[in-house]
Amino acid sequence: SPQEPRQSINADLIGVPGGALQLVTPALVIDLAAMRENLHRMTRQCRDAGMALRPHGKTHKCSVIAREQIAAGAVGICATTGREAIAYSQAGLPGLLVTTPIVQRAHIETLATLHRRGADITLIFDTAENIVEWEAALTGAERLLPAFVDLDLGMGRTGAASISAAVELARRLHGSSALTYAGLQAYSGRVQHILSYTERRAVYLKQIERLRQTLAALEAAALRPPVVSGGGTGTFAIDVEHGLYTESQAGSYALMDVDYDVVELFPDRANPYRFALYLRTSVVSANQPHHVSINAGFKSLSTDGPLPRVRSGQWPGAAYDFFGDEFGLIALAEGAPRPTVGDLVDIEVSHCDPTINLHDYFHVLDGDTVVDIWPVDARGVL
Ligand code: PLP
Ligand code: MN
Repeated sequence: SPQEPRQSINADLIGVPGGALQLVTPALVIDLAAMRENLHRMTRQCRDAGMALRPHGKTHKCSVIAREQIAAGAVGICATTGREAIAYSQAGLPGLLVTTPIVQRAHIETLATLHRRGADITLIFDTAENIVEWEAALTGAERLLPAFVDLDLGMGRTGAASISAAVELARRLHGSSALTYAGLQAYSGRVQHILSYTERRAVYLKQIERLRQTLAALEAAALRPPVVSGGGTGTFAIDVEHGLYTESQAGSYALMDVDYDVVELFPDRANPYRFALYLRTSVVSANQPHHVSINAGFKSLSTDGPLPRVRSGQWPGAAYDFFGDEFGLIALAEGAPRPTVGDLVDIEVSHCDPTINLHDYFHVLDGDTVVDIWPVDARGVL
């Protein structure tokens, strides 16, 4: 009936009786033009450096964005968790590289089945035991499954802990009847966010020495990896310089966040990536002289990085702070524009990956029009 809200497009977009469809906040929004600019910029940078780009899909957990990245020139997509890998594989994405050892029975079985059905999946290994488990799961498969050795660069999270262990794993994969030795992965996480370029470069190049030595040892053992994969948004400029990676796994460049905006990404120029992701929020109360309250707090914004910020240029002088589970405080500067109840406040998120994982959908904006809704289909923690 005309009294009823119109049919929902999804959980976050509801109809107002007799009116146009309206975005309900808090809602993740993507500035499509800005995102595409980032995607093309990174493809171009990789091409100029003679590197392939296999961006990390942990950032967005969205197979539509992965497809956009591939359309913009990426050779595939990376996944961290079993669910991400399964979601991307089920979406039919080519060039899937799973960058974490897959050790749980449920994930092994599902991914082995997808491989048998023709999916394009590459795994990484950091123990011989995990190779044995996978060989058992792949018994009778028609094709060998491509596998990389995972090398620890000093962070100690995953990867072979020594050069000899890495060579041994390569030898093992080379001789496998179910897996085929297809490359090496080496990723260093923490250094990505060292703020100063000079400091980050110094710390990182020491770690990269381990990669250089491992590649030499593999070469000496006639096991030179055809692909060397690693690096993130924070080390990209340094990865171009040392030249040991054949492909970059950068992820955050696609959407950006405050956590990376404060990092000096290149030595000689301003941060080139645009903010393409915002959390669109609404003012819910404005009774106080120096601040207003918006509807986004701990439940819709990650808390592990610097404070989220009000979108640059939108409400000059306004600053975000957490104000509870469902609330944010927008502090107003003296004499600054004052939002009132119902006004929209776009937030630059602190850390894109964990923030996105709190949401079901991206609302895709062309200018101010919602032109598409993309599910965060690889969402979750599994
Ligand atoms: N590769 C791996 C293995 C990662 O874990 C990550 C992010 O944590 C990336 C690449 C992407 O890094 P960034 O988001 O810093 O570009
Ligand atoms: Mn991250």
